[in-house]
Amino acid sequence: MSFTPTVLVGPSGVGKGTVLASLCARFPNVWLSVSVTTRHPRPGEMNGQHYYFVSEEEFDNLVESDGLLEWARYQSARYGTPRAEIEQKVAEGRAVIMEVETQGALQIMARLDKVRTIFLMPPSLAELESRLRGRGTESDESIKLRLQIAKHEMSLMDEFDHIIVNSEVAVAVDELVNLIGLSTGEQLD
Ligand code: 5GP
Repeated sequence: MSFTPTVLVGPSGVGKGTVLASLCARFPNVWLSVSVTTRHPRPGEMNGQHYYFVSEEEFDNLVESDGLLEWARYQSARYGTPRAEIEQKVAEGRAVIMEVETQGALQIMARLDKVRTIFLMPPSLAELESRLRGRGTESDESIKLRLQIAKHEMSLMDEFDHIIVNSEVAVAVDELVNLIGLSTGEQLD
């Protein structure tokens, strides 16, 4: 059985992490790519689990050695998807999911022959703002910038194969399960 790699896109604060954590807990065959980033860890974030936290120089080396499937700048940091791990997990038959912002998703679509892209939408911008504020991880300035980026990202939603509105996490997870084909063990292309 081979799964089409899935890219989950959506503005910061929409709940990608929560939805994916719930999915991974239900389906052990799902493998969530761990990205590299030059941003500093938030309290509670673990190196190798949430991200690989690297220096600017280490990131440069990864870019130069073609170690990243895609990478993008977001706010003042760079984020990228390690290429070798993805290839290995796809070959092992794992249901690979990459969580990225939109520029990275467009690069992956250009680079992989087969990929499924899903845009996770907030019910409204007001709700997105309240989720970002409720998370308590960002400064006011960072929240404003993230909301600006969110508007731009949402204007690109038609570029992606599917849209899921994250009003209720359990419902969004069920939609994701159906799109990936995890419930039946078969793919729905
Ligand atoms: P955060 O700083 O909130 O963890 O992530 C900021 C943004 O970067 C989010 O939209 C997240 O989806 C995105 N992101 C996380 N990892 C990657 C990656 O490997 N590549 C790209 N292009 N974006 C990523």
